[in-house]
Amino acid sequence: DHADTANVKEEIDDSAHPTGTTSTRNTLMWFRNDLRLQDNKALYEASMRSKVGAKYLIALYIVSEEEWKEHDEAPVKIDFWMRNLVSLKAKLDKIAIPLVVKTAKRKTDVVGVVESVVREFDISHVFWSQELMVDEKRRDKAVKNALQKIKVHVEECEDQYIVNPLNVRTKTGNPYAVFTPFYNTWCKLVETEPHHLRLTEAPDANPHEAKDLFARYFKATIPSSHPHGLDVETINNLYPAGEDEAHLRLNAFLKTKVKNYRVSRNIPIPEGTSVMSPYLNAGVISTRQCVVMARAANKNKITTGDEDIKSWIKELGWREFYRNILVSFPRVCMNRAFQLKTEKLQWSNNDEHFQRWCEGKTGFPIVDAGMRQLNSIGYMHNRLRMVTACFLAKDLLIDWHKGERYFMQRLIDGDLASNNGGWQWSASTGTDAQPYFRVFNPLLQSQRFDPKGDYIRRWVPELQGLTDKQIHDPYHILDAKEFAKLGYPKPVVDHAKARDKFVNEFKRVLALA
Ligand code: FAD
Repeated sequence: DHADTANVKEEIDDSAHPTGTTSTRNTLMWFRNDLRLQDNKALYEASMRSKVGAKYLIALYIVSEEEWKEHDEAPVKIDFWMRNLVSLKAKLDKIAIPLVVKTAKRKTDVVGVVESVVREFDISHVFWSQELMVDEKRRDKAVKNALQKIKVHVEECEDQYIVNPLNVRTKTGNPYAVFTPFYNTWCKLVETEPHHLRLTEAPDANPHEAKDLFARYFKATIPSSHPHGLDVETINNLYPAGEDEAHLRLNAFLKTKVKNYRVSRNIPIPEGTSVMSPYLNAGVISTRQCVVMARAANKNKITTGDEDIKSWIKELGWREFYRNILVSFPRVCMNRAFQLKTEKLQWSNNDEHFQRWCEGKTGFPIVDAGMRQLNSIGYMHNRLRMVTACFLAKDLLIDWHKGERYFMQRLIDGDLASNNGGWQWSASTGTDAQPYFRVFNPLLQSQRFDPKGDYIRRWVPELQGLTDKQIHDPYHILDAKEFAKLGYPKPVVDHAKARDKFVNEFKRVLALA
């Protein structure tokens, strides 16, 4: 762990701001996972810089199919990002900032693309929002080196975390590996140092003549969508793009649904959560903006006051926590288990079981409903993410990496940090993971969180005609003939036996340590 942290520190120190710049020409803002105008420090700083030099601000976005593939980005997520890019361009157009969209065929082409844009637009200063994950850091370092060689000034703005991960530390200076102490320290810093929640203004407009100078770019269109094979109208209605939509959603949630959040957040239908995750992950809205708005609805408190609002803010704390984990323990970005000893677990290679899980045909109605929701709309309720993930790892004894990957390939809100954190929690290999002997019983989860079976009926049409009691466990409640008529699969495993097998395997591995 210490080695992990030391590497991170070294890499960050290494990327300190360069000195010695050339004269100010034009300024470039490179958008990545921060597709918004408000509370975007890099964009604001870039606009200030262009003002000082009385020159123009140009925006860049690079489409990199190879990077998407490598990160297993879901087509529905790429489509969402592209729709948000269209919306961002419309906003930038209004303030006369041209958005230049370029393609990098291969990942390594990104350096060359930025360099060529810098030359084409006579750029002297480049701004972006600093990313601290391993791949992104490597990419940015390469770009920065290339730009420094041609005497272009690079400014990496710290903006992606409410509190810089290097400042959330234990008394002995180590990163936290458990949520609650992390969150307590994080809250203290947020409450005592007000700059953490200071929002950044949207940028000023370019001088008007930018419109003429860059007319070609204002007219250019963006690849507005990416085929995802799901129902386009449904997806567009569920997740309309744009910064305005993200704020509408947040405001609506804080006015209504948050009122019962502590209870309703566990019930998958009707949906009691905000569904802000796709917007947060595309950076259409920042975590900071969400905390600031929620805090404002709670008399400017985050640790006292309204229990429901506090509980929602705490979920945003989980988001920050898992993103901290990736920074402080970079091995997690490289497919390693957080608890290394769990890498000795012997997983099953049953492809048929994995396929049935992916398709939502395990014969466990609540699990199948979750997987079918994911396959249909690129989203799954948090309770179901826990249930389906636990089921794959502990009932089917299938390597959690396979499930993590499948989720990334399907989720509109796929996020390496939260997805990895959620999977490792569910498989008992992670930070605060639930203990290995705690294996969700799918039947009890179903009865408790979907008592009337409405969620199952919504996603598993074969079971629509069953009573509230039958629907959770049709195989054991109906007689064989009635069950056969449903056209629904038999349970893929016996839960009690599967549970014992997993627990014994975990015990075996612990004994090795
Ligand atoms: P709300 O309940 O309204 O919460 C508000 C915000 O808090 C969310 O948008 C999210 O940013 C954050 N949040 C809430 N719960 C968590 C959590 N457990 N961990 C981290 N952040 C959280 N979340 C993702 O954003 N992307 C993923 O790829 C992802 N994969 C997951 C995989 C598994 C196996 C599990 C168990 C959880 C995963 N989560 C993931 C966390 C969580 O399920 C989603 O963030 C949440 O369901 C999003 O819905 P919401 O916006 O309505 O959440």
